[in-house]
This record gives sequence, C-alpha cells and structure tokens, in this order.
Amino acid sequence: MKIGIFGGTYNPVHLGHTALANYICNLGLVDEVWLMVSPQNPFKQDHQLLDEAVRYRLVTLAVRDFPRLRASDFEFRLPRPSYTYVTLHELALAYPDDTFSLIIGADNWAKFPAWRNSADILAHYPVIVYPREMVSGERLMISDGDSDGDATNANPIFLPSAPLYPISSTAIRCALAAGDDVSPWLDPAVHDEIIRQGLYRQ
Ligand code: ATP
Repeated sequence: MKIGIFGGTYNPVHLGHTALANYICNLGLVDEVWLMVSPQNPFKQDHQLLDEAVRYRLVTLAVRDFPRLRASDFEFRLPRPSYTYVTLHELALAYPDDTFSLIIGADNWAKFPAWRNSADILAHYPVIVYPREMVSGERLMISDGDSDGDATNANPIFLPSAPLYPISSTAIRCALAAGDDVSPWLDPAVHDEIIRQGLYRQ
C-alpha cells in the first residue's frame, strides 16, 4: 500500500487534520494516511504537551469513522526527539511491502531545508505539500506553476488546490483555557473526551 505520513503533535487533533488527510486520500495519491503522533517535536521542545498516550487516544477517536485514516504511535518507540528521516527509515524497515510518503503544509515546506537530512528525505520519499492558512490569517499558498499531484516524477508534489482549514490546536487550547466553546472544531467524541477529562483547562 501507499501510505502518507501526516505527523504532528496533535495537541489536540482537530477537524482540519482529519479533513485534510481525507482530502489527500480521496485524490488517490495514497491508499491510507497515518496521523502519526509525535512524542516530542524538535521544533516545539518548550511547549507544554499533553501526555502522548492521551493525544494518541484522541487521534484514534478522531479517525474512527474514516476507513482510510489511521492513528499511529510508531514514533513512541523511536529515540527522542523524533526526526522525520529516522521515522521514515524505520517505517520502511518495519513495513517492507508498503511505500511511504510525507504530507506537510506549506508552512513546514518553507522550513523544510532546516529539517535534519531533508535532502535525503526528498531523495527517497515523495513529499506532498498543501497550502496552509495560519491562525494569524496569513495564507501560505502554492504558486500557480506548481503541479496538482499529476506530475508522476515530481518531488515535492504540490497541491495548490487543496482546501484551507483555518483551525489550529493552539487556538483550540487557548479557547478551552478561556472556557469557550470549541465543539465546531473537533470531532464530537474528541470534544466529549476533552470536556470529560477537563483537558487544557489549565
Ligand atoms: P499547534 O497549533 O499546536 O502548533 P497545529 O494544529 O498547527 O498545532 P500539529 O498538531 O503539529 O499542528 O498538526 C499536525 C499536522 O497537521 C502538521 O503537519 C500541521 O502542519 C498540520 N496542520 C495543523 N493544522 C492544520 C490545518 N488547519 N489545516 C491543515 N493542516 C494542518
């Protein structure tokens, strides 16, 4: 199978994550998307992260009605901090019958040269890049000349027409801490679990 790896902290997972992953599945670029929960993002070491097992459990709830989306805790068993080139290499070893690609937003694509062994990643794995709208309202689009996933040998594969989902986990955490209603941005079961456990209330 062709599997797209969509990594993140998922602190917490929201509807933007699952909608985008589902959109990419429906394009036919991959057979499945794995939402891979990062135990510790090298770029986010200072952030207060909810326990990884709790974040993973929320992702399993969020994907339960999407047959081609999976929650993955694969990085929990790897050395920390988890670097994407290591994760991809270990995935290829653990699942020799599958092929892996990486799904990242235009915000991460802009920072991609700073990722450890980024050239190695590009040389060995397709990288799928989609536009991002940030909480600030800033839109990181992909230029008109870029492909929409139809160029067979292009890497990265740009998806300029992918929809924007102006939601972020940061905004959701802030709203929860302020006691605001975040139900429009979350899967109902994820929302129930967050409220039941009083998560992100500070
Ligand atoms: P935070 O606000 O805590 O930084 P986030 O939601 O921006 O969180 P992650 O939890 O790391 O980011 O998200 C996992 C993956 O989903 C990352 O690749 C991130 O770029 C992407 N992503 C996050 N929010 C959206 C969104 N609204 N639309 C599409 N992709 C998103």
